[in-house]
Amino acid sequence: MRLASGRLDGREQLWWVTEQGLLRVGYVAALRGEENTEWTMERFLTDLDNALDLLQSWWHWAQESEVMTDRLPDETLAPVTQPGKILCVGLNYRPHARESHMEIPQYPVLFNKYSNAVVGSGRPVHPPAIAQQMDYEAELVVIMGRRAVNVAESDALRYVAGYCNGNDLSARDLQFRTSQWLLGKAADGFGPMGPYLVTPDEIPDPNQLEIVCRRNGVEVQHSNTRHMIFSCSHLISYISRYMTLEPGDVIFTGTPEGVIFGQQESERQWLKAGETVSVSIEGLGELTTPIGNWKE
Ligand code: ZN
Repeated sequence: MRLASGRLDGREQLWWVTEQGLLRVGYVAALRGEENTEWTMERFLTDLDNALDLLQSWWHWAQESEVMTDRLPDETLAPVTQPGKILCVGLNYRPHARESHMEIPQYPVLFNKYSNAVVGSGRPVHPPAIAQQMDYEAELVVIMGRRAVNVAESDALRYVAGYCNGNDLSARDLQFRTSQWLLGKAADGFGPMGPYLVTPDEIPDPNQLEIVCRRNGVEVQHSNTRHMIFSCSHLISYISRYMTLEPGDVIFTGTPEGVIFGQQESERQWLKAGETVSVSIEGLGELTTPIGNWKE
């Protein structure tokens, strides 16, 4: 299943993404005579086992009954709009660590963003006035669906609700101003995600996916998630030894080579207003991020 979040009449709601377009879960719930027709990604994630079965069966029913779409979102949102945690993994592809002149990590390099960074596909990002070195990072994002405490690597993917594209937008001048990267990684809008969540039945192995980033339509990053140093399973298991992962928490799993920072200093052309960055990972659609004007 592919599930998208959006806002309709001021409320967050949930849609299936179909070949024919978007189909609102709450609409189908109403047709089915359900009492509670308020469906959000949060409701889906916090009751994943029941919700998966229910939404799968409604989905099949809607297809057989040829239910047509009713209303589309006024605004498309990131699949998860208020994640409790946004964990990010640095330097998780060897060629990217090399292009960044950093050591190959012995342990996952973890940092974080907050929910102010979350924006959906198509939403322009307005960098802070002082940021001069705006860069993109195409990344596979893991969306957690079950509480994970000290889980084994072999079991880790069972805790995943789905996957989506992510862009770990980074202001390099702010990132390297101090030893901690936070300032250059956590500005408003620096964590675009989307356009929708894809459930694991469609992604049996998250570490076998082509990952591509385009800048104004021109390919700038192209790798495969099999080249991660620490796999998705390893990352979930590792993190869950130290902190409880909750439904709705997300993990940005690191970017491959091809970022602007990896180029010779004289050749770096940092992102400017009016440019568009898109991330497309196999099976996950395309996340588009227009770079807007810098904040005043
Ligand atoms: Zn990153």
